[in-house]
Amino acid sequence: MEKVKCLIIGSGPAGYTAAIYAARAGLKPVMFTGAQPGGQLMITNDVENYPGYPDGRQGPEMMEDFKRQAERFETVIRNEMITKVDFLEHKHRVWTEAGEEIQADSVIIATGASAKWLGIPGEERLWNSGVSACAVCDGFFYRGKDVVIVGGGDTAAEESTYLAKICKTVHLLVRRGEMRASKIMQQRVIQTPNLIVHWYTEAIEVLGQDGVEGVRIRNNQNGEEQVLAVPGFFVAIGHQPNTDIFKGWLTLDDTGYVLLPRPGFTQTNISGVFACGDAQDKVYRQAVTAAGTGCMAALDAERYLVEEGL
Ligand code: FAD
Ligand code: NAP
Repeated sequence: MEKVKCLIIGSGPAGYTAAIYAARAGLKPVMFTGAQPGGQLMITNDVENYPGYPDGRQGPEMMEDFKRQAERFETVIRNEMITKVDFLEHKHRVWTEAGEEIQADSVIIATGASAKWLGIPGEERLWNSGVSACAVCDGFFYRGKDVVIVGGGDTAAEESTYLAKICKTVHLLVRRGEMRASKIMQQRVIQTPNLIVHWYTEAIEVLGQDGVEGVRIRNNQNGEEQVLAVPGFFVAIGHQPNTDIFKGWLTLDDTGYVLLPRPGFTQTNISGVFACGDAQDKVYRQAVTAAGTGCMAALDAERYLVEEGL
């Protein structure tokens, strides 16, 4: 059976940063990329808020930079999924999609999270051409323009008020007559003058050829439909962390994010297993925060291996 000192699951900004630090510390990391090598930024165009790129960078190019840097320090990168884990003993065991079993002294989980989508016509086709699930990432492209955003939770409240600072008018579609968001967030929404809440309203189609030109909406009480002519459509109905394979081993919150028992550390409830990036972060979910916690996970893993004499 193959044995490794440091096994990294996931190849987004968190996984690659963990790999760079672990490799430079001599841990000979082995990284499993999963189904989306490079992570979420592979499906976006301009990343303009990652420090060090003053002119911005295309997401896939940026992740190629991350990969080259990790490879420069001899990270072993494998294009496979991890499909099963067993963290019962100190010898953490994981299985690849091909059924191969690997034993790891330390494991760094960097499996990220995926945005939930509505599944309406036009949404997938115009994804990245006006359709987005990240206001902080893409709001800037709609400054001075009108946008539609869907959702009724804290994310929608936060993202719609953020967009309202940049955009001319923000149309927030809430499918019920009340929001799920916390009271204080709801107040901010209501008090924002250029933010119009459409209660009992759902998006039923995203319109446009090469980019978003409008959104067809329907009032689910009276069935009335109308088209809002906007170039930007944001979906903020929640994220799903990619943590299913850790259920039963790691302590997760009720939405599936990995809970870290000690604030400021990446150690999970299992000794020698560390989590970083979006898989453990329901609040910030940015490339730079994922990279930051990836660094922390590698340093925590290194310290653990020294303390355990591994
Ligand atoms: P991810 O990037 O989600 O990577 C997760 C990795 O885990 C993937 O490689 C996946 O294949 C792998 N994986 C999952 N399950 C398994 C498994 N079982 N076995 C092996 N591997 C597995 N942030 C910004 O800061 N600026 C932006 O401009 C920006 N734009 C964005 C645009 C879009 C369209 C999206 C979707 C997100 C954007 N973000 C942006 C957010 C940013 O992409 C994420 O915060 C960041 O990628 C999270 O990094 P991560 O490493 O935690 O996880
Ligand atoms: P959430 O709380 O699960 O809310 C999702 C919202 O999207 C709900 O209002 C839901 O409507 C709506 N929705 C779901 N599917 C939909 C669909 N198909 N069509 C239309 N609307 C749909 O998710 P979240 O807002 O991402 O928050 C997740 C967690 O993170 C929460 O615990 C939240 O408090 C926390 N969070 C906190 C902050 C903060 O404190 N600053 C910021 C962001 C997130 P219904 O209400 O009708 O179900």
